[in-house]
Amino acid sequence: MVAKTPVVKNQELEVEIEDLTYQGMGVAKIDGYPLFIEDTLPGEKALVHVLKTEKQYGFAKLKKLEQTSPDRVLAVDHTYTQTGIAPLQHLAYPAQLKFKQHQIQELFKKQGLHIPVRPTLGMDNPTGYRNKAQIPVRQINGQATTGFFKRRSHELVPLEDFYIQDPKIDAAVIVVRDLLRKYHLTGYDEQANSGLVRHIMVRRGYYSKDMMIVLVVTSWAVPHQDDIVAGIQAALPEVSSIMLNLNDKRTNVILGKKTRLLAGHSYLTDQLLGNTFHISPLSFYQVNPLQTEVLYSQAIEAAGLTGKETVIDAYSGIGTISLAMAKHAKQVYGVEIVPEAVGDARDNAKLNGITNVTFTVGKAEDAMQQWQQEELPVDVLMVDPPRKGLAKEFIAAVGVLLPPKLVYVSCNPATLARDIKALEAFGYHAAQTQPVDMFPQTTSIESVTALTR
Ligand code: SAH
Repeated sequence: MVAKTPVVKNQELEVEIEDLTYQGMGVAKIDGYPLFIEDTLPGEKALVHVLKTEKQYGFAKLKKLEQTSPDRVLAVDHTYTQTGIAPLQHLAYPAQLKFKQHQIQELFKKQGLHIPVRPTLGMDNPTGYRNKAQIPVRQINGQATTGFFKRRSHELVPLEDFYIQDPKIDAAVIVVRDLLRKYHLTGYDEQANSGLVRHIMVRRGYYSKDMMIVLVVTSWAVPHQDDIVAGIQAALPEVSSIMLNLNDKRTNVILGKKTRLLAGHSYLTDQLLGNTFHISPLSFYQVNPLQTEVLYSQAIEAAGLTGKETVIDAYSGIGTISLAMAKHAKQVYGVEIVPEAVGDARDNAKLNGITNVTFTVGKAEDAMQQWQQEELPVDVLMVDPPRKGLAKEFIAAVGVLLPPKLVYVSCNPATLARDIKALEAFGYHAAQTQPVDMFPQTTSIESVTALTR
């Protein structure tokens, strides 16, 4: 027997929005049954149309707002809410910052953690901040077209202004798209797994102003390759690197493993906190340069370095945090899984004349066990893991190494809360968590937490 839900598909009803999910959807409750509604905000009353009902919750579509929230930003372009680009743009920026603080508080509460969460550090100008774009290319009306996918779909919405990206990057994407059109290069077709160009990736150095352009293609055989390179160089003299990346698999992963240089350098150059960095196309690099400096400064302060400490920087990427900390520590050990990123990190240490850092290629959880066996006297353990958080083995190794201080930079408060809970069992305690808004207009939440024993 199918359990009855208080609403049924295609029903229209008036609801009051009570909450906002971590994905930025409004929540209304009908006899305790949650309905999720895109583009609605707490405090609003709305006429909605039920799209789908599951046992525990349902989805509805906004038909008409009967009462709007004072936090609603009017005159927004709905494309940005429909696509994943800016799902929070209809919420005023100060309310976005509160939303992020609140999300962390709720997740801590669920884990039974009593850690105060500071107000989120935001940006003065929370648009046009992204230094990196990975723009899908599809064949529409017989020509290569750039844009962004509708949320939860593979339907491309053609776009030229990406709103949260550096406008110079938007302009570069148009230049490349027009060259693809001029020379009749085709956009990718997911269904048929045909077509040549899957994505245009652009990175721009905030301080260096250099640009890197990577065409992600399904084959190395790119017609008019030289004309396209010449066209890019003529229109965009600031481009210091043009590359091809091969991705011939049926996959949602954007970049393949192989890259070829077409012109310029095989890396982009940029600066952060006074250090210079080379960044390869396959290496991770934070996308919001101004806020990255805020984030790292918070992490360095939380580490409380005096120049005498031995520091582990786990998940070290191209060494951005390691090198920033090396200036204030005795010795820094970095570990990172992507070999290209470790190559960058070693070059970057040399480039900046920093000699008290060592980088290892590998899994952080394996390196931790190695350091544990070597009885490395660690004073500060810095971690900056991907969304899935720390591996069980990693946490177990922390329990043996027992560094007096652990600084946790997190891009996912759910795994942060889970990991802090596990670390509390080893006697760790956090005095506070500091959110830093790295992704304005979106629901992503970054934070720094210092834990001590
Ligand atoms: N601290 C760096 C990178 C943070 S992003 C910065 O701020 O720029 C997280 C990094 O962890 C990525 O570079 C990713 O490649 C790496 N990574 C993912 N899983 C890992 C693992 N199990 N062990 C080590 N590094 C890992």
